[in-house]
Amino acid sequence: MMAAVVMAEQGLDIIIADKNQILGRKLRITGKGRCNITNDCDPSEFTNKIVSGNKFLLSSFKKFSNRDLIDYLNSAGLETVTERGGRVFPSSSRAYDVAELFVRRLKELKVPVLFGYTADKLIIDDGAVRGVDGFVSGKKHMLYSDRVLLASGGATYKGTGSDGSGYKLAIQAGHSVKAPLPSLIALKCLEKADCASMQGLTLKNTAIRLYEANKAVFEDFGELMFTDAGITGPTVLSLSRFYISKASFADKVFNDFDSLRPFLRFDQSLYSTLNSDGRFRIELDLKPALDVNELDKRLCGDLGKYSAKLIKNALNDLLPSAMIVPVINRSGIDLYKHVSDISKEERMRLVNAIKHFVLTPLGPDDPDHGIVTQGGVMLNEIDPSTLASKKCKGLYLAGEIIDADGLTGGYNLTVVFSTGRAAGNAISASIAEIS
Ligand SMILES: Cc1cc2nc3c(=O)[nH]c(=O)nc-3n(C[C@H](O)[C@H](O)[C@H](O)COP(=O)(O)OP(=O)(O)OC[C@H]3O[C@@H](n4cnc5c(N)ncnc54)[C@H](O)[C@@H]3O)c2cc1C
Repeated sequence: MMAAVVMAEQGLDIIIADKNQILGRKLRITGKGRCNITNDCDPSEFTNKIVSGNKFLLSSFKKFSNRDLIDYLNSAGLETVTERGGRVFPSSSRAYDVAELFVRRLKELKVPVLFGYTADKLIIDDGAVRGVDGFVSGKKHMLYSDRVLLASGGATYKGTGSDGSGYKLAIQAGHSVKAPLPSLIALKCLEKADCASMQGLTLKNTAIRLYEANKAVFEDFGELMFTDAGITGPTVLSLSRFYISKASFADKVFNDFDSLRPFLRFDQSLYSTLNSDGRFRIELDLKPALDVNELDKRLCGDLGKYSAKLIKNALNDLLPSAMIVPVINRSGIDLYKHVSDISKEERMRLVNAIKHFVLTPLGPDDPDHGIVTQGGVMLNEIDPSTLASKKCKGLYLAGEIIDADGLTGGYNLTVVFSTGRAAGNAISASIAEIS
């Protein structure tokens, strides 16, 4: 939609074709219906939160940064607010308003939209694109054009239209696709019963670390939540980006769609061996503001205060009640032990369980529910400044289909808007050049 607006504003004769019956279906459900449009951090820091493609995206961000996106939406009449962590939302808190802003502008510019159109093949002649071959309601329908922008999204949340079929067109044009995997996704944990007993509990100000073979490979600080099967929330979503990328097939590159197809099902079994050797563990620091000595002092105080109680009834000042049993169990202390009988060594085990609350990640909770897809069309096959395919003349690729993705916090939509805008401008410039 961003690319289409840019091209139509420059007088290009274009058409949008989408398999859905509505534009921006995924956009409308972003940010729990509130749309975390972007992040208001300093543009120079923005790429720190991009995991794949930070160098590639520099050119698009230079032309249209996170701050440019905010200005663009504000001047189009969409007020925004910036919340904790620089997250930018529409003031109305309605993702719908972001989508409708584009829909309105496309209507003003009289851009035709072909709804219910499934693009099945590119029409390619002599190494150059000539159009798209697809169907509407089972009927064949060709669209002829010597410029095609493929912005078909990733392969998660397939119900929104992004079913990975765009990769088929990219591969047909000669591109390679890095294995698409779910990212920013809730994780299942081995300690399912513990998690279920804490289901719905949100922890704020918690430090989280992912260890691979005892080496910390990711750490973050902030909010997380327990689910019936594991954990979710902003810090967990970001952690999942790194954990899921350790799947054995993550670095596989596909040049034919039939080999890629089984990986697009995002079947749970693909991830069942991720941590079968127990190489990965997650540790939560439930009291990151206190070091071990300070926490021990605090615990001493609480145990002194509740010396006549059982240990399971003595930690309410320190921990959310749902966490007390899981913490004590991890320390190995009998839940029914009297506080007065707790030894110093046992107290230190409690401190350790609070500072290093261990969870064992398994796979994604529901592989289709990745907020974004990591992997996609290989970046070295795309011109970073124009988003033009290096494999097929006249073909452009933008948005989540390319192998670029970031952490949670508004970074991914910025990638989509910035690359869409760069592609739209580049297509317009390429047409202007020949006319
Ligand atoms: C629940 C959820 C919440 C999110 N929240 C945020 C957030 O708050 N902030 C943020 O930055 N990011 C968020 N994201 C990520 C963000 O929404 C996506 O990265 C973004 O929508 C991708 O944009 P896109 O245009 O590349 O692809 P999409 O939005 O997926 O659009 C692709 C379009 O292509 C169409 N299409 C696909 N294949 C074909 C075909 N063969 N023929 C015809 N049409 C086709 C689809 O129907 C679809 O309309 C969220 C994602 C989800 C799922």
